[in-house]
Amino acid sequence: MTALPLLLLDVDGPLNPYAAVPQEQPPGYRTHHLRPEFWLTRFPGRADEAVEPLRLWLNPEHGPELLGLPFELVWATTWQEDANTWIAPLLGLPELPYVRWPRMHQDEPDGLHWKTRVLVDWAAGRPFVWVDDELGPQDTEWIAENHPGPAATFRIDPRIGLRTEDFATLRAWAQAELGIEG
Ligand SMILES: [Mg+2]
Repeated sequence: MTALPLLLLDVDGPLNPYAAVPQEQPPGYRTHHLRPEFWLTRFPGRADEAVEPLRLWLNPEHGPELLGLPFELVWATTWQEDANTWIAPLLGLPELPYVRWPRMHQDEPDGLHWKTRVLVDWAAGRPFVWVDDELGPQDTEWIAENHPGPAATFRIDPRIGLRTEDFATLRAWAQAELGIEG
């Protein structure tokens, strides 16, 4: 049996359409106000309750949609382990593997996204789709040249987030590239 491809999944953009216009809860989404650990560490010396929480929009249907895909889900987000603590329960997802970044937000040679090289290392040759609102054509090209296996990038508009048709696109990719029905 063919191993499932990896779905390397960003949070802010694909799951949380933070740039939605107008700035109000998009249809199908719920509003959450969270104080994850990484957020609190930005306000040293301040009591947790005194820190303004992060506002997040999450669509509860995204959890079952993701679990129904013929992919192994992996968090590929600055939330790192906080995605399991804070995001997964709100979407009904189990604890997932996550990519731990050696550094974040750094400038990279060739204009690559700071995640790109780490993700290709992390996948270690396994087929993957990377879902993110920040990746660009240069990342797609670099991955094609440097990843020894099927891989695709899927850019999501952070004003919109993942749409129903995007799940169909992911399914179609697994079918076309790997012959996996799902
Ligand atoms: Mg993002």
